[in-house]
Amino acid sequence: MRIEPIADLTGFDALVVSPGVPLNTHPLAAAAREAGVLVIGDIELFAQARVDLPPHKVVGITGTNGKSTTTALIHHILDTAGVPARMGGNIGLPILAQEPLPAGGVYVLELSSYQIDLTQSLGCDVAVLLNVTPDHLDRYDGFDAYAASKARLFAMQSAGQVAIVGTGDAASAGIAAKVPTERLTVIPSDVAMDQSRWPSLKGSHNAQNAFAAIAAARALGVGEEAIAAGLASFQGLAHRMERVAERGGVVFVNDSKATNPESAAPALGAFARIHWIVGGKRKGDDLDPCAPYFGNVVAAYTIGEAAPLFFDLLQGRVPVVEQAVTLERAVAQAAAAARAGDVVLLSPACASFDQFRDFEARGAAFRAAVEALS
Ligand code: ADP
Repeated sequence: MRIEPIADLTGFDALVVSPGVPLNTHPLAAAAREAGVLVIGDIELFAQARVDLPPHKVVGITGTNGKSTTTALIHHILDTAGVPARMGGNIGLPILAQEPLPAGGVYVLELSSYQIDLTQSLGCDVAVLLNVTPDHLDRYDGFDAYAASKARLFAMQSAGQVAIVGTGDAASAGIAAKVPTERLTVIPSDVAMDQSRWPSLKGSHNAQNAFAAIAAARALGVGEEAIAAGLASFQGLAHRMERVAERGGVVFVNDSKATNPESAAPALGAFARIHWIVGGKRKGDDLDPCAPYFGNVVAAYTIGEAAPLFFDLLQGRVPVVEQAVTLERAVAQAAAAARAGDVVLLSPACASFDQFRDFEARGAAFRAAVEALS
């Protein structure tokens, strides 16, 4: 589809846009392409300003799932080690709004694929890719284009810079294969680790995140003791496998950030008797990535736009399915059915926009509904 440009940008140095602007359909982006003008974002402005900063390192973290957790974990480990560090990009304060670090500091940047698309010259001293699974496909011409966007993080690196890549999916493994082996650390998906000393890093997905953070910290010269202490004292992030309450032996877990089936799957794998609240604005057609863990689900409560479809889809595959529609009703139904030892889990496998402003609002509504239970 050809998008008509709406302005003549000839002579402009660059067009600076927010990562929320869809480059594939926005007429101003089309105008920039027509005029041969670079389209960049704040991360590129940061990259260009690096020459003026005191000596420092940059860590860039991307992936379909696990970016925020891994970014926060690396930042926390650096903090524990006494290394001056800032966290920015797709998390917290925009990096350009933050005070520059003194010499020896580390900028830890969470990078969405949209942000990478708007970046030309960010050579990360340490670049991390966790995984690439189908998501955001409305903004790309297919999965390969989305994966190619992630691969650019490594294309921007130069000799001596470190690449850390999870190889649990074919697209990431393909990206890893193109990185020179002498600067590559591979994180297999089936890493077996003793996670008992990391209270906020439960589940196999968090083993992957922890492994990536350990590799990044080592590449930055952090000692093993500080790494171990950082992993143990990490608090986790809200809305990601966040334990919000326990009532009569029933634990309520807010995993509102699980906005696609791939990210909901590890949450289902982390508990035994689950009352699963699932649904919202659907991204894919099915729940197949979650299917291996359906055996852990004692009942499902479907909500939002996807409620009728997921209700049909889960029939006969989990013992009980209720079409709850609203989150409040789902919490009430699940709380009534659950018995001691069970987990009521909001891990919706969908975006939130059909019923909520964002995943944070959905998580807050879950917490409020749990607190309102009589
Ligand atoms: P992102 O910033 O990439 O969205 P988060 O760290 O916020 O990632 O985690 C989002 C959700 O994805 C979490 O709720 C969790 O269930 C799931 N998740 C976290 N890490 C991984 C991983 N490495 N692989 C698959 N799913 C993950």
